[in-house]
Amino acid sequence: MKYADVILPLPLEGLFTYVVPASAAALQPGMRVLVPFGRSKSYVGVVARLHNEKPEGYRLKELTDVMDDQPVVTALQLRLWTWMSDYYMSPIGEVMKAALPSGLKAEEGYHPRTETYVRLAAPYRHPTALHVALNLLARAPRQLDAFIAYLNLSGWDMIDDQGDSLPPVSEITREELMNVSGAAMPALNQLTKRGLLETYEVEVSRLNHGGEPHPEVIKRMSTAQQEAYNGVLFSFLKKSVTLLHGVTSSGKTELYIHLIQREIDQHRQVLYLLPEIALTMQIMERLQRVFGERLGIYHSKYSDAERVEIWQKQLSAHPYDVILGARSAVLLPFRNLGLVIVDEEHETSYKQQDPAPRYHARNVAIMMASLMAADDQSPAPKVLLGTATPSLETYHNAMKGKYGLVELTERYQGIEMPDIRVVDVQDLQRRKMMTGPFSPLLLTRVREALERGEQAILFQNRRGWAPMLECAQCSWVPRCEHCDVSLTLHRNMNQLTCHYCGYTYRVPTACPACGGHDLRGRGYGTEKIEDQVRDIFPMARIARMDLDTTHTRQAYERIISDFSAGRTNLLIGTQMISKGLDFDRVSVVGILNADSMLNVPDFRAYEHAFMMMAQVSGRAGRKGKRGLVVLQTRQPDLPLIDLVVRNDYQAFYRSLTEERQMFHYPPFYRLIYVYLKHRSDDLVNTAGLELGTRLRHWFGSRLLGPDKPAVARVKTLSIRKLVLKLEYGIDMAMVRKYLRMAQQQMLQDKRYASLQLYYDVDPL
Ligand code: ADP
Ligand code: ZN
Ligand code: ZN
Repeated sequence: MKYADVILPLPLEGLFTYVVPASAAALQPGMRVLVPFGRSKSYVGVVARLHNEKPEGYRLKELTDVMDDQPVVTALQLRLWTWMSDYYMSPIGEVMKAALPSGLKAEEGYHPRTETYVRLAAPYRHPTALHVALNLLARAPRQLDAFIAYLNLSGWDMIDDQGDSLPPVSEITREELMNVSGAAMPALNQLTKRGLLETYEVEVSRLNHGGEPHPEVIKRMSTAQQEAYNGVLFSFLKKSVTLLHGVTSSGKTELYIHLIQREIDQHRQVLYLLPEIALTMQIMERLQRVFGERLGIYHSKYSDAERVEIWQKQLSAHPYDVILGARSAVLLPFRNLGLVIVDEEHETSYKQQDPAPRYHARNVAIMMASLMAADDQSPAPKVLLGTATPSLETYHNAMKGKYGLVELTERYQGIEMPDIRVVDVQDLQRRKMMTGPFSPLLLTRVREALERGEQAILFQNRRGWAPMLECAQCSWVPRCEHCDVSLTLHRNMNQLTCHYCGYTYRVPTACPACGGHDLRGRGYGTEKIEDQVRDIFPMARIARMDLDTTHTRQAYERIISDFSAGRTNLLIGTQMISKGLDFDRVSVVGILNADSMLNVPDFRAYEHAFMMMAQVSGRAGRKGKRGLVVLQTRQPDLPLIDLVVRNDYQAFYRSLTEERQMFHYPPFYRLIYVYLKHRSDDLVNTAGLELGTRLRHWFGSRLLGPDKPAVARVKTLSIRKLVLKLEYGIDMAMVRKYLRMAQQQMLQDKRYASLQLYYDVDPL
């Protein structure tokens, strides 16, 4: 009799064994099977292993059906999943759920999907006809709103009465139109019925491949780039992982392109990872121009059908040679992988936060390469980590000689690094010289830049209008009912929002505590900055980029392309604007409030603040001339500020690592956070103490806590956190075993039946 150990999409430890019926003799690991589970459920799982050892102790069921002729998961992927499940302490079923696109998880196969687009009907594609159309709709306000929203989005509204040339019309999906305009389906249907708009279908995959390839001669590298390129190849002779530490705008991307071409010439695949948010049309087009149809793109915003298609293609005889993707692309099947590029390797979004598995794509990529090397794939795949601001972990590994290190210290064409001027906000406030959040220097320089036809970026790491509302009389502050945080005021939508659970509240007209009517927004969010900038620079063409203005991918792309093309000249944004965007005409960057990044209760605060400021500054003066950064802070004497000004990564690294070593933090110690969550604060408190006692028994002073995290209640669940600090050389398999043992002992107690317990390994 044959048995199959199956991975099921459940948050339960281990594999589940089923009897393989004689009719399924061709079954192989990596194929999907349908299996019964519990009394009446059935699931699609993936076979991890076939064997002949009958498990003892329980009655086995037969698997119901085999869904594939060929494995959809490779042997290597199965081994990688097993490693991830073990290392990140997350059931393998959850790893499978993260890896497989839902089309492969569902019981049916996938169908190629189409998307519905909207366009202006032919008879109305003229200014005069448009006026007629608008008049027609005078009595149908909903339709009129939707119609105007369409004209805005598509660019038809850009045409004036005399203009007879066609405006640059963009393609708009019906979904986007509905999202942006708030229009409902009936209004849109009416517009189609009236013959004003028409709809058409486009197959999703056609869109994502971006049409015809334009094989373009690859750009010649500068001498510095050529040296770095040679340096990387030489480093790969000795080290499987190499760090390319290149300042912003040094041409790292060009270097990658040459390295990719080299792999393709040798018939090997390349995986190019970028943080989700940096995967813009800018970079996709740049690569598409060079690699055309050889390039596949994979990230979470793409339709599931598309993702299934890419997965299948990677298993086929004609896979993409290059995959450009975000975090989850590391979980695709690969054959004959030659190189993995992890660009912006310091980016925290490479780490999945929620749900499990809380994996780090960079580290998974490195592990994947080493599994392949152990598989005798020859030559073994190499990993290149690229960034202007390496994570401390990576730089530490490079210093120890575990990773190779190649540096690019000059910008392409010798453009100077930006001139960073520190402004003492507290002093200026005392002298009443600040205009709201803006220093005189910043206002002057932005004005000059705009007058010269250049662009400016203002960076504020808070969205919304004001981070909190406060009663001027009694200091009452509205808080979320479900979370332990104050609410953010979004004035454009006239509501208070919880940034942890998304719940929205009406803005109170009076203070419920004292009845006072003077409720004031405290602090500055991007919305308020935008309001004030509009007053100060009425002529500026302003755009704002934050989570609230980029609900759709199209909206996000539009903000970037408008700014790139100079249609807007002043960009206000949160950290989103720092992600590897390449703008030509930005001469001034303002960092409005460095303190909001520095005063964060987290051991990584300075690390993140330095990187954020260095990256944001890197947007200044990319082409043509030296840019200016105005860095506003209340702590101008803080050594970290000086390191940013001097752009001295090495000194930053030295100062931070000293502290980390002293206080037992990464990269010298490993961290594991253990989280407990429950509705009842009392229960989670008791559970935390109990788990703490159990764990301290084994780990002694390596265990800290339980403590309340900075936000101790989210979505009605109270939270406790325990921290394990583990020295290198400790047996991690043993550590995990003890953790699991403690967990099992705890959860046997009926009181803790609904307690959530999970781990964050190598937290960021
Ligand atoms: P990084 O990734 O290091 O920030 P990029 O690769 O984006 O830098 O390069 C910055 C700018 O310089 C881009 O606009 C790029 O097209 C240009 N550039 C870089 N290297 C070359 C080259 N060898 N030839 C022509 N243009 C280049
Ligand atoms: Zn009050
Ligand atoms: Zn909330």
